[in-house]
Amino acid sequence: MLSNLSNFDIGIDLGTANILVYSRHKGIALNEPSVVVVDTTTKNIVAVGAEAYEMVGKTPEKFVTIRPLKDGVIADFDITTEMLKNILRKASKKLGFALRKPNVVVCIPSGSTSVERRAIHDAVKNAGAKKITLIEEPVAAAIGAGMPIDEPVANVVVDIGGGNTEVAIISFGGVVSCHSIKIGGDRLDEDIIQYVRKEYNVLIGERTAEKIKMEIGYALIDHEEQFMEIRGRDLVSGLPKTIKLSSYEVRNALKEPLLHILEAIRATLEDCPAELSGDIVDRGVILTGGGSLLNGMEEWLSKEIVVPVQLAENPLESVAIGTGKAIPYMNKLQAAVK
Ligand code: ADP
Ligand code: MG
Repeated sequence: MLSNLSNFDIGIDLGTANILVYSRHKGIALNEPSVVVVDTTTKNIVAVGAEAYEMVGKTPEKFVTIRPLKDGVIADFDITTEMLKNILRKASKKLGFALRKPNVVVCIPSGSTSVERRAIHDAVKNAGAKKITLIEEPVAAAIGAGMPIDEPVANVVVDIGGGNTEVAIISFGGVVSCHSIKIGGDRLDEDIIQYVRKEYNVLIGERTAEKIKMEIGYALIDHEEQFMEIRGRDLVSGLPKTIKLSSYEVRNALKEPLLHILEAIRATLEDCPAELSGDIVDRGVILTGGGSLLNGMEEWLSKEIVVPVQLAENPLESVAIGTGKAIPYMNKLQAAVK
């Protein structure tokens, strides 16, 4: 049965890296990094979202930048609630009307515990929502990527986010098999930081590492070597230093986390019921989440798992679009929190 739709019904993708709000009117109404800057002396929130992201690694000592979500789940409940309040206010402004007591569809990682699900539910509630419906992230991602999830066929979706990667096979509207690992794009950044520290004795920041990953980071495929000049702090002299990094070096640094992601995909495919296995060969796998934008990811994975792999149309938006498309089915969706 369709619920009574109202303007105030929204979908939220509460990601480790990015938070998106989807409205039935405007589609993606807001898309900002899930980052908050807090003044440690007053405990006040100084900035949220894009503004806070700009400050990452550059704040004076009394300010700390916090990512209140970690590995896809809430690490700091109060800050997540405050961030959501702020995000809803911003979304209201963009939409041109106040989101008073919206009904919200929000995604949860399929690997999350009932306590973690309850925390997401309560944070959205405390931020001012009326009715909250939880939807599993891979299901939202698959809906958002336009997969026919209600049909009795295997829909395989791989969502590589900031803090986690979820691999799921969905058929008949439900998750048939799924694996969730706490490795995503953030881990790739960390491994680049570690590599540069170990090889060059130079410390680089999170944002520099992310930039390196996006520009000259590659999945484990052959490619023409590229170079990038980067700046950091020499750990010996303490002075700024510029080094030239090769894409081959970066690829090596990324090897371990990428193999973990591959392993999670393999494990999920191995769990697939035999009747559905054939579908996967024909229909392939859809990649979504920001991490899937790593250069060569599609090519590498399709070579490794020997089935077609395709990038979703909007990898950074699939989950949010999926939560939005699920709004009319709020009553039908199974609420994971009673
Ligand atoms: P989440 O759902 O956890 O918020 P997202 O799906 O928004 O995560 O993806 C964020 C991750 O994607 C970050 O780790 C970011 O560095 C990574 N990412 C975004 N664009 C690219 C790109 N072009 N190449 C590689 N990684 C990317
Ligand atoms: Mg996500």
